[in-house]
Amino acid sequence: MKVTRRDVLKTAAAASAMAAIGAPLTQVANAAANEPDEWVKSVCRFCGTGCGVMVGVKGGKVVTVKGDPNNHNAGFLCLKGALMPPIVYSKERVTKPYIRKNGKLEPASWDEAMTLVVDKFKTAIKEHGPTSVAYYGSGQALTEETYLASKIWKAGLGSNNVEGNPRLCMASAVGGYVTTFGKDEPCGSYDDIDNATCFFIIGSNMSECHPILFKRVAKRKQNSPNVKVIVVDPRKTNTARIADEHVSFKPGTDLAILNAMAHVIINEELDNARFHGKYCNFIVDWKTKKKGSFDDYVKFLEDYTPEKVAELSGVPAEQIVRIAKMFAESSATTSFWCMGLNQRIRGVWANNLVSNLHLLTGHIGKPGASPFSLTGQPNACGGVRDTGGLCHLLPAGRLIKKPEHRAALERQWGIPAGTIAPKPGLHTIALWNAFSEGKVKAMFVLCTNPAHSLPNVNIYTEGMKRTDNFMVLSEPFMDAETVKYCDVLLPPAFWCEKRGTYGCSERRYALLKKSVEPMGECRSDFEILMDFAKRMGVDPKVIPYKDVDDVWNEWRMVSAETPYNFSGITRARMEKESGILWPCPTEDHPGTKIRYVRGEDPNIPTDYKNKYKFYGKKDNKAWIILRPYKGAAEEPDADYPMVLTTGRVIDHWHTGTMTMKVPELRRSFPKAYVEVNVDDAAKAGIKNGDDVVLETRRDTMTFQARVSDVCRPGLVFVPWYDPNLMINKLTLNAFDAGSKQPEYKICAVRIKKA
Ligand code: SF4
Repeated sequence: MKVTRRDVLKTAAAASAMAAIGAPLTQVANAAANEPDEWVKSVCRFCGTGCGVMVGVKGGKVVTVKGDPNNHNAGFLCLKGALMPPIVYSKERVTKPYIRKNGKLEPASWDEAMTLVVDKFKTAIKEHGPTSVAYYGSGQALTEETYLASKIWKAGLGSNNVEGNPRLCMASAVGGYVTTFGKDEPCGSYDDIDNATCFFIIGSNMSECHPILFKRVAKRKQNSPNVKVIVVDPRKTNTARIADEHVSFKPGTDLAILNAMAHVIINEELDNARFHGKYCNFIVDWKTKKKGSFDDYVKFLEDYTPEKVAELSGVPAEQIVRIAKMFAESSATTSFWCMGLNQRIRGVWANNLVSNLHLLTGHIGKPGASPFSLTGQPNACGGVRDTGGLCHLLPAGRLIKKPEHRAALERQWGIPAGTIAPKPGLHTIALWNAFSEGKVKAMFVLCTNPAHSLPNVNIYTEGMKRTDNFMVLSEPFMDAETVKYCDVLLPPAFWCEKRGTYGCSERRYALLKKSVEPMGECRSDFEILMDFAKRMGVDPKVIPYKDVDDVWNEWRMVSAETPYNFSGITRARMEKESGILWPCPTEDHPGTKIRYVRGEDPNIPTDYKNKYKFYGKKDNKAWIILRPYKGAAEEPDADYPMVLTTGRVIDHWHTGTMTMKVPELRRSFPKAYVEVNVDDAAKAGIKNGDDVVLETRRDTMTFQARVSDVCRPGLVFVPWYDPNLMINKLTLNAFDAGSKQPEYKICAVRIKKA
């Protein structure tokens, strides 16, 4: 049957709306009026769900996409994923290099642009040393690109200033996993959704931010009405609308709620003493790593009775008891969380506290039971966390500060001992502070839009205006905010115009095959980085690659000596299969859905004496860490009495540079707005559609009001996608001491009718 674009959009719009109310999506098969000549296997360009897509190509152009029936999304896509093709051919595509001259970007040849870039980087290194140059990448770059960039900087240029936007979205999740389990990345898989009997969703508006996964949760609940859903969120989001228990709390008090749940679980004797007695340690002091006992934990939790926490959080004590019992009494509980926990000054602690509940109850390491952080970007996990594309990391979870980890990489990379500098580089906020202060002189920004996405962004865009620092930007779209500030603009191949790997939230690596030739003079970021490295005089032994597959093969073998081991995920397998979950040590291994369990995780010998082995820790035990409640960096006060929070909406993704180019998506959310609670609006004389002034200690902006009961009283919400109304001018750049992730989710604000 021939399906028109109009039919497709109707189907997709209906699917999107159904997702928004928590009902199952209709399968979106985006066949266009033009039947493609061929379908090419790929992955969606947007969120960390990592849906498989088939790219329809006709006459050398992308004409449509449809869901890959063999990937985890079983052929489903949300509206964003279904409408990707027009983005490729946007009139805003950058198709040639540019150099800024007298304040204006002027077209240039590749040679002119790269000569200037290399001159600036060489001068910076010569005059100020290697730490004066930096790379700022992305959880949207391909795995091979981030691995290559990190290696060029750390092994080739002597600079550990390698950072990227994943620091802004999942660093606290990494910190949480590493402190609790000793290893990063979730232990379960998306299949847990089909087996869980209780979902604990906290700090995540899954229905809008990960709609295909939420569809699976909604379907599970629809098919098995006894399945319970708990949503902990100060907004009554669409996710909350399918909840058995929606827990609305005073922003910032969720850490206390999590401890109160543990208190109830123990008090009601619902903890799994056999599990935590055998497989967990109780850490009473994180700084000294002092181990304590279960009794120490019980004593610590005395401060978190439901009654005390009810007073603090505004959540009725009876509801805290109900959700704690629901969590513990289910046969298998899976938790999902995202930026609501991560983008906090206590983000790592919040992550630990969710894992504590799983370890306390034994809801881990079996189908349907997993603490599972969701990722915002398509390749933050596989591309940046795993390859070590941050300032303190080396590939496969190794740390720069550890001499034995540097030595292992130097040996594997075949470079002289001592090549990798022993001091970690600057984390994202420190790096952009240093750039703004003129201390970092040359910055290579690839596949991200920091002039929109950094918190308290005005101070960083001011810094980008300096004339004594230099920024080269590889960016596909001319209207991205950061283009206004770069000195050289390079035209990268976009998504289906290049080949490489994405690794999504569930440790699944999948191949994006090249579907079409790049537009104009665009080059893949692999080619751009290789050209840069060669011109910089990087030792050829550091970059021995003919093509992007060589990078993958090296990375695969680097992983082989570690618990990440995915040496069995060969390119030949990736060509055929729609993603494989690591660890995957051999070419006939099916991939790993459950980690840390004998018989499931290939890192555990089949004759190991115990069922579980948390091998990230020396004693093979996971850590229940006693983390107290601590409030936000900027609490409301008499001058700024309300809380501002930010987030995404279903039809836009991140800074809107892609989704705002799709007419159907732009029409559904044409501009950012402020969501105000009905009671607050009545008090301030604000009606739906009125202009409302938002003022924080950093800036003042005006948004149109949407008055509803979505936000609880005292809270306002603004989506962050709109380049014309950048809410990050108002947000806070305070960050978590451990993960260095900023607290986007909470700051003090005052509002008034304009
Ligand atoms: S859920 Fe995420 S990965 Fe899947 S189609 Fe939508 S945007 Fe793409």
